[in-house]
Amino acid sequence: MNSLCLLRGAISLRAFNFIKTANQTAQIRRPLQFRRVLSSVRATSDEELAAAAAAANADSGAPTIFDKIISKEIPSSIVYEDESVLAFRDISPQAPVHVLVIPKLRDGLTQLGKAEKRHEEILGKLLHAAKIVAEKEGISDGFRVVINSGASACQSVYHLHLHVLGGRQMKWPPG
Ligand code: AMP
Repeated sequence: MNSLCLLRGAISLRAFNFIKTANQTAQIRRPLQFRRVLSSVRATSDEELAAAAAAANADSGAPTIFDKIISKEIPSSIVYEDESVLAFRDISPQAPVHVLVIPKLRDGLTQLGKAEKRHEEILGKLLHAAKIVAEKEGISDGFRVVINSGASACQSVYHLHLHVLGGRQMKWPPG
């Protein structure tokens, strides 16, 4: 390789780094709405409609399907339970392991966006329970914990819950 090639290589690398840095800076400074437009991954319109309908009653304090699961009025496949937390299999699994972890007492936690200082203890318990679930399900080496908060995140049940997902290779960015 002659010195002209080396020089050209160095210039292109510097130009590439400049463009990359400029893009990253622009990405950070762009308003949120604009960044949303740039993000091409979308939920299906069915999921979006269901999420919008659920959000309409989000703050009504109405019981959700999870209350019936806690009271065992409707059956669920329980993976873990203690005095404050219940973990059960999602009825529509998105991965070989898909478990929901919920607080037994909702106490205003319709969604993570409503969390207050007083919820710190239960939030910690939920995360710890997610780790226990991962151990019990044999996915400790790699798993994902998801919390959808609000309609634009496609939350469909307004009782805070963590999705514990694993048993397959996860992709990034998430949809
Ligand atoms: P999200 O969309 O984040 O609010 O998640 C709600 C989750 O609850 C979805 O993944 C549903 O599949 C799940 N789900 C709804 N009803 C039941 C049920 N009866 N038993 C287990 N999972 C349920």
